Amino acid sequence: MKCPRLVIDLGKIKKNAIYIKDLCSRNGVEVMGVTKGFCAHPVIAKAFYEAGIRNFGDSRIKNIKKLREAGIQGEMTLIRIPMISESDEVVKWADTSLNSQIEVLEALSSSAVDQGKTHKVILMVDVGDLREGVLPEDLEDLVRDTLKLKGIKITGLGCNVGCFGGVLPTRENTRILVNLAEELQKEFNLSIKVLSGGSTCGISLLEKGELPRGINQFRIGEGILLGRDSTGNRDIPGTYQDTMKLIAEVVELKEKPSVPVGEIGKDAFGNTPIFEDRGIRKRAILAIGRQDVDPENLIPLIRGVEVLGASSDHLILDVTDSEKEVSVGMEFPFRFTYGGMLRLMTSEYVEKVFI
Ligand SMILES: *Cc1c(COP(=O)(O)O)cnc(C)c1O
Repeated sequence: MKCPRLVIDLGKIKKNAIYIKDLCSRNGVEVMGVTKGFCAHPVIAKAFYEAGIRNFGDSRIKNIKKLREAGIQGEMTLIRIPMISESDEVVKWADTSLNSQIEVLEALSSSAVDQGKTHKVILMVDVGDLREGVLPEDLEDLVRDTLKLKGIKITGLGCNVGCFGGVLPTRENTRILVNLAEELQKEFNLSIKVLSGGSTCGISLLEKGELPRGINQFRIGEGILLGRDSTGNRDIPGTYQDTMKLIAEVVELKEKPSVPVGEIGKDAFGNTPIFEDRGIRKRAILAIGRQDVDPENLIPLIRGVEVLGASSDHLILDVTDSEKEVSVGMEFPFRFTYGGMLRLMTSEYVEKVFI
């Protein structure tokens, strides 16, 4: 079989999706399945669909187009603030987009009018994570200006935590959305249908019974794909974590000193490497590198093995204490983080195999 390859277990992803969807729906929350972590590969999107997900979100319009062209049926939402330069495409391919900026909304409005469509928007509110969104006190002005635009319909409010600032979701910061929706109802007689309360990390609020009433959507990627909540640094109980693995091939196996010989300059990426002298060690080189994945995001599935680092195309492991005999030509297995998945899915040099 081809190496390197990503082996993706569609059955386990589907089970994760069903589990999370049921957990959410018992609490009145709909799941938007977020597809950006796997470049919206239609085979995986289909597993989401088979689990009952009818609402898809991606940060790139190319991915949404890919889903549509693959015949995936459902509501499609662009979950990154659109670029003004792509507003025609956004209106053409997405039903809804997340927004926070009046200039962008004006561009979407003009595209919507040109195309004779109504484009739905969810206005993002920054509740503390300092990524996208208007500050709560500025929402009213944004709504007032948006309501003047033709071809645009405000359908919801959203917030995002656990991304840039690593802020954890709480009852208090999530309730900001509910309160704002009530205020908008009073001020503008505006009925807000969707309160999109966050991503995978919001599941912990559900589990603790702390999700404010009124929040009715979560945008979930990682929880379904890897059964992980990185922000909360935990596995999600009831889900599978072994949904995907990476297989890479060993191309060199030698005993070498643990400190390089010669004067140290910069490594291939401009960093000055630091080495600890651990004597002579047995090292394996695998045919995969930073072009495909960050070595920091790989977790060897053979105990006792340590990732030492990588250059563009070579991954170096210390296998001195490996529990299993390592040999040249061997197919070596890894797990990985969300960041690892993102890069591995994106690399065209990594074969995707579905089981
Ligand atoms: C990526 C993203 C998500 C999904 O995050 P996960 O942690 O993978 O669940 C949700 N909302 C927005 C705006 C995103 O960019």
